[in-house]
Amino acid sequence: MTSSLPPLTSRDRRALRTAITDELARVDDQIVALRRTFDDIVEANVNANSDDEHDPDGTTVAFERAQVSALLRQAEVDRDDLRANLDRLDRDDFGVCEVCTGFIGAERLMALPTATRCITCAQRTW
Ligand SMILES: [Zn+2]
Repeated sequence: MTSSLPPLTSRDRRALRTAITDELARVDDQIVALRRTFDDIVEANVNANSDDEHDPDGTTVAFERAQVSALLRQAEVDRDDLRANLDRLDRDDFGVCEVCTGFIGAERLMALPTATRCITCAQRTW
């Protein structure tokens, strides 16, 4: 079943370019902040021999570090997806669902600029 959404207009593409650029700036900031947090955790661990600063029931340094590094990896994947989408934005196949080849729709892409599937395919469980 293909989607009945209209193709992207040049106005949609312009709006999407702005949305993706904004999102990219946000993710870049997030990556910088996460790298700083990661370095802080590593540094704090080097400077402190004990875990006294931490709530005994709280997270360990290793756990914090693993969490931050997972967030960082995800942010880097998002950034790469966003950059790829910016490159593809002017191509005819941008905004086309990778599963059903229907249009993803401007509204969904504005909300989720890295979407590669239409809402129908995204909600379908395989
Ligand atoms: Zn689809």
